[in-house]
Amino acid sequence: MAKPPGKCIFCGQFGLSKEHIIPNWVRQLIPRGANDHHLFTIARDIPAKKNQTPHIRSKYVRQGHPGTKQVRRVCKKCNEGWLSTLEDELKPVLKELISGSSLVLTPWMQRRLATWATKTAMTAEFIDPKSAAIVFAQRDYLRLHRDPPQEFNVWAGFYTSNKYSSSLYHHSGYFSYETKIYKKGSTSLNTQATVIIVGRLFLQVASCAIPDAQFRLKNEEASRPRRIWPPSDSDIDWPPPQAIGNDELDIILMGLHRAFEATD
Ligand SMILES: [Zn+2]
Repeated sequence: MAKPPGKCIFCGQFGLSKEHIIPNWVRQLIPRGANDHHLFTIARDIPAKKNQTPHIRSKYVRQGHPGTKQVRRVCKKCNEGWLSTLEDELKPVLKELISGSSLVLTPWMQRRLATWATKTAMTAEFIDPKSAAIVFAQRDYLRLHRDPPQEFNVWAGFYTSNKYSSSLYHHSGYFSYETKIYKKGSTSLNTQATVIIVGRLFLQVASCAIPDAQFRLKNEEASRPRRIWPPSDSDIDWPPPQAIGNDELDIILMGLHRAFEATD
């Protein structure tokens, strides 16, 4: 039986077209090295059953080259409209960041970059739709406002290693610090963290659907990734003083759940 036509994850309309998770023009900007490695991981924590502590039960991982991954989940109108505008606006800045140039990241640039990172995380979830932890209302908000939803957290960092020239790590799970807010047995995935690396640019996007839950990195003021969302009014001198090498990347990836803590 043929599958029914799907609807766009951003606007809910029909007329889907294929979209690369990392667009072709971005991949072309990534300096190529002889020892390029790519990492693509989608991990999903299986929610706990009734009467079990919400916790990691098992993990589902897919690996491969993120640049070649495509999803057929975005409509032509969104693709050729606001998404194309977003990328056109960001192109000059993204080019500098991917190649590791020095620049001043203005609040406007930080917003555009945070929006692009969030859009990428939202699209990447649909490589494995069961891992999706961002809800339609949040994607619709991004489409209408061209900004990430307020409850999203986005950090940017300067990645100095050549180990991964492009990588994407999406982790989602069920999180609750107060189970009574959920109906008994409600175990929808509600929390995700996505790490995106393109050339010298590291991006991390984290969100939780629990109202007022916020993520903070440990000792955030001194952390290597710099927060770019929720927005601030300050310029960021780029690159930041402390870079992210492979050791730091491994720590970030391995300690992903512990790296963010929800507070009320
Ligand atoms: Zn659409």
